[in-house]
Parts: sequence; C-alpha cells; structure tokens
Amino acid sequence: MTDSADNNFDLVILGGGSGGYACALRAVQLDLKVAVIEKDKLGGTCLHTGCIPTKALLHAAEVADAARDSAAVGVKTTFDGIDMKGVNGFKEAVVSRLYRGLQGMIKGAGITVYEGEGKLVGTDTVEVGGQRVTGKNVVLATGSYARTLPGLEIGGRVITSEQALELYEVPQSVVIIGGSVIGVEFASVWKSFGADVTIVEALPTLVPLEDPTLSKQLERAFRKRKIAFKTGSRFTGVEHHDDRVTVSLESGDTLDADLVLVAVGRGPRSEGFGFEDQGVTVDRGWVPTNERLATNVSGIYAVGDLVPGLQLAHRGFAHGIFVAEEIAGLKPMPVIDSGIPRVTYCDPEIASVGLTEPQAREKYGEVDTYEYNLGGNGRSQILQTAGLVKLVREKDGPIVGVHMVGARFGEQVGEASLIVNWEAFPEDVAQFVHAHPTQNEALGEASLALAGKPLHAHA
Ligand SMILES: Cc1cc2nc3c(=O)[nH]c(=O)nc-3n(C[C@H](O)[C@H](O)[C@H](O)COP(=O)(O)OP(=O)(O)OC[C@H]3O[C@@H](n4cnc5c(N)ncnc54)[C@H](O)[C@@H]3O)c2cc1C
Repeated sequence: MTDSADNNFDLVILGGGSGGYACALRAVQLDLKVAVIEKDKLGGTCLHTGCIPTKALLHAAEVADAARDSAAVGVKTTFDGIDMKGVNGFKEAVVSRLYRGLQGMIKGAGITVYEGEGKLVGTDTVEVGGQRVTGKNVVLATGSYARTLPGLEIGGRVITSEQALELYEVPQSVVIIGGSVIGVEFASVWKSFGADVTIVEALPTLVPLEDPTLSKQLERAFRKRKIAFKTGSRFTGVEHHDDRVTVSLESGDTLDADLVLVAVGRGPRSEGFGFEDQGVTVDRGWVPTNERLATNVSGIYAVGDLVPGLQLAHRGFAHGIFVAEEIAGLKPMPVIDSGIPRVTYCDPEIASVGLTEPQAREKYGEVDTYEYNLGGNGRSQILQTAGLVKLVREKDGPIVGVHMVGARFGEQVGEASLIVNWEAFPEDVAQFVHAHPTQNEALGEASLALAGKPLHAHA
C-alpha cells in the first residue's frame, strides 16, 4: 500500500487487527517509526468478521423484536419478516464506514502498511512479498481463527461465525455447537429472525465462564424466548443430507437442522509464520508472554488473541497501547485480564467484570454478595426486561466482581469496571447518585443494599 524510503523501523507489527493497529497508532504518537504488515484487511477479525458485523445483526434482531412486539406498548406495526439482503447491506455499510475511517487514520498517522502475509525470518526481520522489513522491536499480532472439533469438518451446511455472517436467507432451523459468547449471540439473532434454534453445550450451563447466577438467568430468559438448549451434552457426529444435517449427541439423541454453527472457541493463528524458527516459544499455537507482554526473545512482543487469556478486542487495544508505551520507555501499568470488562450482546445482555462468586470464594474465603432484581427498577419495567445485578465483595472489603444481566446492560459495564478496578467499597458507590429511571440505577441500588441501606430492595 504505502512504502517507506527504507525498510527499517523502530517497530514492525505483524497483523493489523485490534491489537496490531492500536499498537501502531500509539507508537506513532510516541514518535516511533512504525510498519504494519497485514495479509487481509486492516481492522482484523473484530471489524470485518467479529464484533462489529455481529453487533449489527443483533441490532437488526432487536428492531425485529420491537416491531413484532410493538402492540404490547400500544404501537401498531406489522412485522413482515426479515430481508437478509437489507440486513447484510446495513451490516456492510457499518463495517465499510468504520474501515474507511481506520484506513484514513493509519495513513494520516504516517504508518507504513505492507500488504501480504509476513513471516518472521530473523528476530528483528519480517519478510513480506519478497521484501525484508526490519524493526528494533517486533510485535506479533496475528490473532485467532474459529476452531472446530474432531469429526466436525467445516463445509456445506456446517459453518463457523465467518460464514454465518454471510447468509443470504434466514435458516429455518439451526443447531449451534457451543453455548459460550459467540454461540449465544447467534442463537439470539436467529431466534429474533424467526429460526428454530437449539444450542448444544458440553459443560453444565450456558455461558459457562460467567458467574453461575448469570448462566441461570440467561437460561431462564432463553427458555422464555423458546431458544432450546442441551447443556452437559456432547456432540458425537454429524451426517450430511441434501436438504439438512443431522447432529448426533452422546445421549443418543439426534437433531436435524438446515445449518450447524460451530462455535467452540477460537485458536491462535501462528502456524507457518516462522515464530518457532526464530526461537519464540509457542505453546499449542499460543505465544505466551510475561505480564509486560514480552516473549522469551528479547525485542519481540505479542498482543491480542495470540496471547493466552480473554479473547476480546478491547484487550487487544489495551495490549497494543501497552506495548507501544513499553517500547517508548513509559513503564505503563500491565493489562490484567481480571480487570477487563466482558459483554455478551445476546438478548438479554450480559455484562461482567472481575471475579465470579466461586472465584472470589476461592481467593478470599469469605465473601458477601447481593443480587438486585430488576423487578424493582423502573427503567427495566418500561423496557419489559428481567434480570439482575449481582455484586460480590470481599468480606468487609471492596467489590471484586460485578455481574449483570438484562436489556442494555452492556452499556453499564463502564461503571462496573471503575468499581472493580478502583477497588471501590459498596459504601463508596452508594454515595454516588445514580440517575432515575435508568438501568444504571440498578448498580446504585445493589450498592446501597450491600452497604446496608437498600432503597427499592430488601437488605
Ligand atoms: C463472531 C465474533 C464476534 C466477536 N465479538 C466481539 C465483541 O463483541 N467484543 C469483543 O471485544 N471481541 C469480540 N470478538 C473478538 C475480537 O474479534 C478479537 O478479540 C480481536 O479481533 C482480536 O484482535 P487481534 O488483533 O488479536 O487479532 P485479529 O483481529 O484476528 O487480527 C489479526 C490480524 O492479523 C492478520 N494476520 C495474521 N497473520 C498474518 C501474517 N502472517 N501476516 C500478515 N498479517 C497477518 C490477520 O489478517 C488479521 O487482520 C469477536 C470475535 C468473533 C469471531
């Protein structure tokens, strides 16, 4: 795309996704000369096949539900169905607007972009399209890919999230293998679009990495929405027919569907890029780092999904910024996974930060918890949503976990993140006035209750 007078840089970044481009943008602010090598599109998974397109579909799903259910609030509409061409057009318009903006920012910042697949051929050199690009420091930011299970080959009616974003019609029925974030988000979209959805999850609950109370609440909400799920249930095989696929489970049950979405997690994308040849430790594809995101090879860092831990775009951004500042000598604070907010954008939304109750009990022994039911929240009643806010505090200590479920709770995760990361006590949060009627108020109410002075709740 762009070329530099020479191919020597302060920083060479392999991969222009969330982690890589954030690192590049921060590094140029710190007067470093930066190159990014990208084999596909700047913006990576999040912008093109992850966060943004899925959230566009979820927004269309929300509009469909609002249209379908409008009579409940006295508004007359007719819901005539989903036009996938229109939905895809909307999704693509959002993505391309952001993509154009990102390309403009990268160009405007003076970052040199090399298009093509890069390979580490020296501890300070990446080869791309026959050119050798060297950097005083190298950042590995090659991201992740959709995994599958043995016996579950992707192709035809068996798809990953990538193909799921490209459908030109709404399937009549879908089996989703995996009940974690990506699985429940697509379940939510397709149900709102009118499909019959069944989730198969090997662990005992949906969203098994969340606090058990949230899993239970989501399961209740999905039952109400008639999204079927089989938890504690293992997939054993899939049989392809012309007009459907049959999924078999360990229990002996079989499920027929138009499509099978495989959503069993994402693996690190590192094979064939020369990392091990240059002495970088690679563990089952992941690139482990210390807390300063340095690999075992001096001058080589790794960021984002490639580094074991939470796979989230904002973790990638934070990693990228951290590494740029580290290289510039600013001694930044490390990015700690337990302080990173997590949002699952299904309906109802799930938002959490910090430790779950079982994790907090393991770490602190004694803890106090409070669950504020949204039944007492005015805004939730207007939005006709059910759910709760759960706070977990170290006994007589700060709040160490916030767990929320209900409509629009993704937007509330900011305050939850401040509470946990600033180690606030419920008594501190209770001092802040929360606006009425908002979903945000539920956080205030839960804190008031945990501080021993509940308002619209019982102690
Ligand atoms: C369906 C889905 C929904 C998601 N929703 C959310 C969400 O709502 N919120 C959230 O926080 N996260 C979400 N994520 C996760 C998020 O997309 C990732 O955490 C994030 O993209 C990781 O950023 P990264 O920079 O590590 O990797 P990536 O974004 O994958 O970027 C890596 C880049 O490196 C390039 N590359 C790889 N190898 C090479 C090479 N050898 N040479 C040159 N270029 C190379 C790739 O083309 C890619 O552009 C979602 C993911 C998926 C799949």
